[in-house]
Amino acid sequence: MGFGVGATGVLLLGLRGLLADLWTIGAGNALVFIGVGYLWQGFRAFDGRTVHHFPVLGLATIWMVAYLAIPGFAQDVNARIILSSLILAFELSMMALTIWRGNETEPLPTRPVLTVMLLIYCAMTLGRIPPSIFFPAHEVNGVTVSLWFGPLTFMLHIISLLCGFGIFSLSRERLLLEYKRASETDMLTGILNRRAFMERLNGAFGQGGLLVLADIDYFKRINDTFGHGGGDAALVGFVRTVETQLSDGIIFGRFGGEEFALFVPGNGNQTGFDFCENLRKTVELSHYKWRDKTIQTTVSIGAHCVPPDSNNLENALVAVDSALYAAKHSGRNRVVLFDERLGAGGAEAGEPAETMAFGAILSPQA
Ligand code: GH3
Ligand code: MG
Ligand code: MG
Repeated sequence: MGFGVGATGVLLLGLRGLLADLWTIGAGNALVFIGVGYLWQGFRAFDGRTVHHFPVLGLATIWMVAYLAIPGFAQDVNARIILSSLILAFELSMMALTIWRGNETEPLPTRPVLTVMLLIYCAMTLGRIPPSIFFPAHEVNGVTVSLWFGPLTFMLHIISLLCGFGIFSLSRERLLLEYKRASETDMLTGILNRRAFMERLNGAFGQGGLLVLADIDYFKRINDTFGHGGGDAALVGFVRTVETQLSDGIIFGRFGGEEFALFVPGNGNQTGFDFCENLRKTVELSHYKWRDKTIQTTVSIGAHCVPPDSNNLENALVAVDSALYAAKHSGRNRVVLFDERLGAGGAEAGEPAETMAFGAILSPQA
């Protein structure tokens, strides 16, 4: 709509001399302001914000009122340049601000480029004001105005091209981002899926930290008792519960079924254990609503402290899996921290968990 109205406005401006000034200068400019105003509102709509008609129509009305009601305004080329520049610059700066503000929630590469371009056009528009004040032009048969008319309409064309390209490019970037997000997200719980978790883990692994596997206990029974829907509700409830315990930098993903993985960067043995034990207790004390029923679960946790500069992700995964296995086999609802010194060799050799040396079964104390 903005493009259509704006184009009609530019067309009317171009008919100057053929139609009465009221139509070309008066209505033509008003339509340009409405057109550019709706481009601004279009960017608001793109970011899911409300479209406001009032400022758009209000600015055009200000122009028409000045044109029709202020004595001498219609005949004063300098006054017209000043007011039209102010209105256009306001719309362009609001458009730039709208596009930039969306960057906080949805950073897209085109946003800064478009913002800067629009601000440049805004500055160019405002740049028309000082000469109109300090070196006022005198209109002689429309000749002076035509000096401005060429660059102005050219600029308006560029702006509409820019906005068209901008909307196209932003939509494309948004779509790509949505596809990327969908490919990284577990559909049921909304957290990272296994592939995305492994990708992030690969990036963070080198700095060292605590690798954690958490598997809900007797989950099959939840499905058997409450049905698959109840099982799903428990999975979502469990994830929301774990999320309350997460701080910045912790990577959390669904590893598969009712098994979840976490990586806590830079965590030492004791703080790592405290974190896991906290998690276990929180889950034990939580319950999830499913229809009129309440579901409670416990979780078994295996953890492994990855020293900084580690490069063997495979070994770390085997170690943490063995720790989880030990947690399950020693009664469930507990945390087992794999001990690197005791377990070295065992993990690498891939021996069965029973023969591997672990740190003590740490929680809960039997
Ligand atoms: P353990 O304490 O040894 O972990 O026993 P468990 O019953 O939790 O483990 P098991 O591996 O025997 O069963 C896991 C069940 O989880 C089997 C599978 O049907 C169920 N499951 C996996 N993914 C989903 C899901 O997305 N939704 C639901 N409702 N169930 C799932
Ligand atoms: Mg389980
Ligand atoms: Mg499992």
